[in-house]
Amino acid sequence: MSLKVVVERACVTGTLALLAACTVGESVAARPLPVVMPLVETEPVATRGDAADDPAIWIDPADPAGSLIIGTNKKRGLDVYRLDGSLHQTLEVGRMNNVDLRDGFGIAGRSLTLVAASDRDRNVIALFALDPATRRLAMLPDSGLDTGLTEIYGLCMYEDRDRGRTYVFVNDKDGRYQQHELSVTAEGRVVGRIVREFRLGSQPEGCAADDELGLLYVGEEGVGFYRMGAAPTAPTEPIPVDTVAAGRLVADVEGIAILTRPGGRGYIVVSSQGDNSYAVYERQPPNAYVGSFRVGDNEQARVDGASETDGLEVTSAKLPPPFSSGLLVVQDGANTRPRAAQNFKLVPWDEVERAIPR
Ligand code: CA
Ligand code: CA
Ligand code: CA
Ligand code: CA
Repeated sequence: MSLKVVVERACVTGTLALLAACTVGESVAARPLPVVMPLVETEPVATRGDAADDPAIWIDPADPAGSLIIGTNKKRGLDVYRLDGSLHQTLEVGRMNNVDLRDGFGIAGRSLTLVAASDRDRNVIALFALDPATRRLAMLPDSGLDTGLTEIYGLCMYEDRDRGRTYVFVNDKDGRYQQHELSVTAEGRVVGRIVREFRLGSQPEGCAADDELGLLYVGEEGVGFYRMGAAPTAPTEPIPVDTVAAGRLVADVEGIAILTRPGGRGYIVVSSQGDNSYAVYERQPPNAYVGSFRVGDNEQARVDGASETDGLEVTSAKLPPPFSSGLLVVQDGANTRPRAAQNFKLVPWDEVERAIPR
């Protein structure tokens, strides 16, 4: 049994002293952090090893209880889950690494949810539509926006609501970033055009765009994460928000997600993979650090905690209880109860809000 498993087991017993022990990473000094509990976990992915990677959350506007989580199985395709964690749909469409979505995309007179995923088999942006009426996800015909990248990796979407434009950001393991602007041809085909390119100094992956504030957040796995304008005309000089060197993030810096509240308020959540924690920042620049937490074992709900998280997503949408104040979905690198393939953990956002200082 590895040290990590021993520590994870210790967390289950839940005494204060042992909870402090839970916070000891293998490579970092002890850093006691608040622990929040997941209430639900998704079915394990169909592939062993490091396979689940990145989620997206679709809010069903007609019936919030019907909202869905789309998760990548980076060895196999996309899986769609209901809010109780059960499997709704599986698409075996190849090695999809990251996934994101935007609602209200018009194709052939219909308003659909557009879902984009970074396809490592073809080095393209794979496009899917989720039909709100049927709640089914389907790959668009001849979908695959060429990137010319050699190792496509992270992906996130951005919608400029004022101009009615939708963009996809993708990166390559070598640090290159591309911003694709989407449009629909007369025949109803979604096509893309690269409107901006820039580069980070080393391997990126996680990213997230703030549609309302027009901001893009990009992670550099070994270094930290940055902010820049999301518009194609914005300067590409990345403004550092936080760094591994500052001590609050432990490499790799992985998933980034934005919790939006009215009036530009809300939070940025970042996976600090190296110490199994999540760092929270103010949504408004300069994105002051708020606090960090871990996702521990929930003995009562029989759901194990999350560790070594790659991708994550968060929403403040009013979902049915227990997610009425929002939902955080995190990938879990070690699904230990029962021991099974990787999956995603669902955490009520109010748990996080209670855990972080205000
Ligand atoms: Ca995502
Ligand atoms: Ca990564
Ligand atoms: Ca776990
Ligand atoms: Ca489990």
